[in-house]
Amino acid sequence: MADYDVVIIGAGIAGASLAAEVAPHARVLVAEAEERPGYHSTGRSAAFWAESYGGPKVQPLTTASGPWLHSPPGGYGDRSFLAPRGALTLARAGEEPLLDAFEAEFAGTGVRMERWGRDRIAALLPGLAEDIVAAVYEPDCQDIDVGGLHQAFLSVARRGGAQIALKAPLEHAEYRGGQWHLVLGGQAVTATRLANAAGAWADPVATRCGVRPLGVQPYRRTVVQLRTRPAPVAHLPLTLGVRGDYYFKPEAGKLWLSPHDETPEDPGDTAPDEMDMAIAIDRFTQVVDWTIEAVEHRWAGQRSFAPDRLPVIGYAADNPAFFWFAGQGGFGIQTAPAAARLAATVLLGLTPDAMLSGVAGQMYNPARFG
Ligand SMILES: Cc1cc2nc3c(=O)[nH]c(=O)nc-3n(C[C@H](O)[C@H](O)[C@H](O)COP(=O)(O)OP(=O)(O)OC[C@H]3O[C@@H](n4cnc5c(N)ncnc54)[C@H](O)[C@@H]3O)c2cc1C
Repeated sequence: MADYDVVIIGAGIAGASLAAEVAPHARVLVAEAEERPGYHSTGRSAAFWAESYGGPKVQPLTTASGPWLHSPPGGYGDRSFLAPRGALTLARAGEEPLLDAFEAEFAGTGVRMERWGRDRIAALLPGLAEDIVAAVYEPDCQDIDVGGLHQAFLSVARRGGAQIALKAPLEHAEYRGGQWHLVLGGQAVTATRLANAAGAWADPVATRCGVRPLGVQPYRRTVVQLRTRPAPVAHLPLTLGVRGDYYFKPEAGKLWLSPHDETPEDPGDTAPDEMDMAIAIDRFTQVVDWTIEAVEHRWAGQRSFAPDRLPVIGYAADNPAFFWFAGQGGFGIQTAPAAARLAATVLLGLTPDAMLSGVAGQMYNPARFG
């Protein structure tokens, strides 16, 4: 029976990044149910880094991750995982107070925002609807190379000595005698600590381990890839509605469009719903008068949120050997480096380093749920 210090359940961006951070300090096994890591939420993201996305209490993790993603440390390659994109949050006539509130939420955080008038927006978006009058522009928003980042975390974890077991679902978990006795894909292992990085399955994994679930709920999010006339300019920013009812961005001459849907569902291999795709296209046609020549591709993934929509990072109140690393919602990629550093620091009892200086990690402690 193999014996580990830490078994991490899930090899998405959360489990992979945590493994990379913990491997130099401990014997780590990452157990992934699927035959390839990144099959679920991590492989389905819209791949942007936007400091305002997720709100002001997620922003410290996103901001702290920015320099790391831009200039990764040794071992992660010598290439940035980011590429400039910019983000433009649009308001219709009458919605300007929502833009004011949006700017006010981030006042004093260091997130750069500029107010744009209609002419500047129309220069990027020909055929702009008459009633779109203003926008907030975030120049620092970036695209993320999600596949490259995820693979880099996995390979750093492996090089650090972590083992990554695929087709290894957590089938049985029992905590006795100060140790976890686990069955993972038919293999029995023991571990001193178990880290729950199971994304949409975070609550079921807790239940299987005899730990009280926290109400981490998966919500479906849909994206369609469109061929449009005109095609989007390559430097079109990520463009969002100030009411949070759509976003779109260019991708190799095509357009990725989401209706910003949030349909609660059970954890699973989710798929797009026709109605959500129709809603996305309808909302897009209310922004610009472009012709949609084809829906070329569509997908959906699950974004999993704790009840307060903040990540959950810390030991369970009801089991000191069960560690939560869940609730990454719609920001799990852009926060991954700092969130994993914080998680490893708490998991191993290390001293927080400079990367976490702007992050009040206690805010994410599961103890907040009682
Ligand atoms: C459409 C969409 C767009 C998004 N856009 C962005 C974006 O632009 N920027 C951003 O930062 N974030 C974005 N996100 C959010 C981001 O994708 C997620 O926050 C992130 O991928 C969550 O990572 P994870 O590792 O927690 O989950 P996952 O990637 O789902 O990984 C969890 C893993 O745990 C495994 N698992 C579950 N149960 C078990 C078990 N019992 N035993 C073993 N393994 C198990 C699963 O198989 C899975 O591989 C988006 C999400 C979606 C759906």
